[in-house]
Amino acid sequence: MNRKNFLKSLLLLPAGAAAMKLSQFHQSASELPASDRMPVVFIGHGSPMNAIEDNNFTQTLATLGQRWERPKAILVISAHWLTRGSTSVATSPAPETVCDFGGFPEELYKIKYSAPGSPDFAKQVVENVKSIQVHEDHEMGFDHGAWTILKHIYPAANIPVFQMSIDYNKPPQWHFALAAELKNLREKGVLIIGSGNIVHNLRLVTFQDFSQKYDWAVEFDEYVKQRILAGDYEALVNYQSFGRAAQLSVPTNDHYLPMLYTLGLLDKNEAVNFTYEEVLGGSISMRCFESA
Ligand code: ZN
Repeated sequence: MNRKNFLKSLLLLPAGAAAMKLSQFHQSASELPASDRMPVVFIGHGSPMNAIEDNNFTQTLATLGQRWERPKAILVISAHWLTRGSTSVATSPAPETVCDFGGFPEELYKIKYSAPGSPDFAKQVVENVKSIQVHEDHEMGFDHGAWTILKHIYPAANIPVFQMSIDYNKPPQWHFALAAELKNLREKGVLIIGSGNIVHNLRLVTFQDFSQKYDWAVEFDEYVKQRILAGDYEALVNYQSFGRAAQLSVPTNDHYLPMLYTLGLLDKNEAVNFTYEEVLGGSISMRCFESA
């Protein structure tokens, strides 16, 4: 029975029965999968060169946008927008493509990801987050944690994109909790992407042999996978207790924290699919996942 016929049928029932039926209806409606609800995603973005390379990772990214429902807007929480002492949201209607790196081929600096911003959804972030005052940043463009991946996921660049910063003064638990305050954006058609890397130790990258993998990098990447599968996000908030492999894999947590936002946006018992797995250059995990 569709919703209209169901409501019509209530008119034929005594008042008490109608009330009971209506409450049942509300309950069953809330249990239905929210068809408009967007997935929540984590992308291990790796090198900025992925923007112009054709490899297994970028080919996988290219399939994602085709598989998901078209979002109304995309919110990216990237390792490359760190703020200290506050959290900001980008409100520019026409964000610049920011090349926040050095020493790469000229070709990379010429790329423009020309998606519009989304001041309206950015303001909804300010309204939704109650625990802190989120600041509006009218200048911030797209950092490379956002545009190098979106270039493959949505090459047409015709979906509005905006970013929220990471307050780098705050501990992991704080970020995990803050993410939950953004959950209702998923219901409103906003695709939320955490963009970082689970294992990210640039000092130890094996540039001479990119296919190498350190044992500790594989161990920590696998540990994170298993904890995600077990729904044990608390262990991942407290990743430091995993010891040496965690210390080497996450020497600074700028690339790890975006993953805690993705996990914090999942509902309890919401399943996760791993969409890409690879350890590269000894100490970079390209693992990607999304809500099922
Ligand atoms: Zn990065």
